[in-house]
Amino acid sequence: MYETTYHRASSVDEAVSLLGKAEDGKFLAGGMTLIATMKQRLAAPSDLVDLRHIDAMKGISVNGRSVRIGAGTCHYDVASSAELRAVCPALCDLASHIGDPHVRHMGTIGGSVANNDPAADYPSAVLALNMTVITNKREIAADDFFKGLFETALEEDEIITAFSFEAPEKAAYAKFANPASRYAMAGVFVAKNGGDVRVAVTGAGSDGVFRHAGMEQALASHWSADAVAGIHVDAEDMLSDLHGTSEYRAHLVKVMAKRAVAAAG
Ligand SMILES: Cc1cc2nc3c(=O)[nH]c(=O)nc-3n(C[C@H](O)[C@H](O)[C@H](O)COP(=O)(O)OP(=O)(O)OC[C@H]3O[C@@H](n4cnc5c(N)ncnc54)[C@H](O)[C@@H]3O)c2cc1C
Repeated sequence: MYETTYHRASSVDEAVSLLGKAEDGKFLAGGMTLIATMKQRLAAPSDLVDLRHIDAMKGISVNGRSVRIGAGTCHYDVASSAELRAVCPALCDLASHIGDPHVRHMGTIGGSVANNDPAADYPSAVLALNMTVITNKREIAADDFFKGLFETALEEDEIITAFSFEAPEKAAYAKFANPASRYAMAGVFVAKNGGDVRVAVTGAGSDGVFRHAGMEQALASHWSADAVAGIHVDAEDMLSDLHGTSEYRAHLVKVMAKRAVAAAG
């Protein structure tokens, strides 16, 4: 690991100001991705600005069916929130299957979404639940946020502070986890609100997380696992790597979608 200068920010404004003074700084949340990348010498930020002590970025509030989750909330807190589980158990279940206990206690929803790893779980929930990504500068609709592998609409000095969404009537997430890392080889999040259905796929797409229009249309006209069975998932749009071929992933997407719809009930 190369040398770096550590800063602890106590507010969002202070974090932005510290990053502005750094030569080539990076925000640090749980460090579950960033520190590992630095240890491998794949990243060498001159400065790390730690967001973990900013209380305003933590916690979950539920008002009716309106949910707000601070970006600094760790996966364990999302998984174990009784308030959240009462309106959107699917998101708690998703968080409970991320990595291992260490990752769940350190990693944050904001860090995961900002990083936009193509195999990360949360991006599918952000898209399917039509979340608003709230930053220190603006509000970004989920459909405008993800821009490809590890790419997002965030600017260099932009901090995600929170996420907000309306809990849908039904939702569920099903993932086929890589047995070694627990990352998704294919993960499908489905959400239904009246006639509006959103289906988001992670882990499988060659361009990162994406919505599947064919499945959304089929499920909007008939909400059942069988409705997904006849839908074509194009292997040409899928990732192919040492963990699985694009054909295998296309198959997994369909199977996970069926499981998610069945679990949503
Ligand atoms: C062994 C292991 C297994 C894992 N398994 C899974 C898994 O099954 N599923 C899964 O989804 N993930 C998995 N992860 C990743 C984990 O969920 C991390 O929490 C996540 O990728 C990054 O979150 P973090 O809070 O640690 O962010 P960090 O590593 O601190 O930061 C990641 C990036 O996001 C930026 N950033 C952080 N917070 C913000 C913010 N609020 N605003 C703007 N930019 C920000 C940082 O500058 C950095 O570029 C795993 C990680 C490990 C080490």
